[in-house]
Amino acid sequence: MSTLYIVATPIGNLSDFSPRAVEVLNEVDYIACEDTRTSGNLLRHFGINKPTFSFHQHNEHRKVGHLTNILDAGQNVALISDAGMPGISDPGFLAVRQAQNLNHTVTVIPGPDAATTALVASALPCDRYVFEGFLPHKKGRQKRLGQLAEDERTIIIYESPHRLLKLLGEIEKHFEPERLAAVARELTKKFEEVVRGTINELKTEFESRDSIKGEIVVIVAGKGYSE
Ligand code: SAM
Repeated sequence: MSTLYIVATPIGNLSDFSPRAVEVLNEVDYIACEDTRTSGNLLRHFGINKPTFSFHQHNEHRKVGHLTNILDAGQNVALISDAGMPGISDPGFLAVRQAQNLNHTVTVIPGPDAATTALVASALPCDRYVFEGFLPHKKGRQKRLGQLAEDERTIIIYESPHRLLKLLGEIEKHFEPERLAAVARELTKKFEEVVRGTINELKTEFESRDSIKGEIVVIVAGKGYSE
């Protein structure tokens, strides 16, 4: 029986990489990377020199067999994504399911993820939350937003910077404009910011900017929440 390690990597700040993560990556036989070039920078920075292979959303169905062949041959594999926790809006789930089904050990080395970092920074309730990840771009998007508007839990949405204004406009339409929310941008990085306010206020703020850049998480208070 071999071990598949799911290893969280920094979401921006390299100092967030844990000593245990480095230890595990130095011990495994192979590292499956979402993008071998992106991860190459991280691995070099930490002096990790192991064979890598690519494992991303477009090849994971094909590559999962390669990964489990390695495990079946008695070797250990670590899976890392470009940033944060593999499996969270990133490849990971398929590999974990297949490794479990084949009775290999799956060990998760926890670490940063943008969702819970943004949630805690939002100053909105963290006791119950729903992780939505990326909303569908077209089909089903409006229906999903309508359902989310009724949820009493705090909502976590991943969004790209060029769609932020569109998303805030949609939330304004489906939710009450006075609903509290937060936009967390560039977490753990040099230009980290968390802007809090009503959906209305956030929309006005980001509309006034010349450009919106960086990585973004939108947090929206659950229905019925008020301070
Ligand atoms: N696996 C990652 C995690 O654990 O959070 C998420 C990967 S997903 C492909 C990338 C999205 O995560 C970005 O579009 C953004 O919504 C969010 N994200 C990642 N890093 C971030 C950061 N430093 N600040 C804000 N959002 C971030």
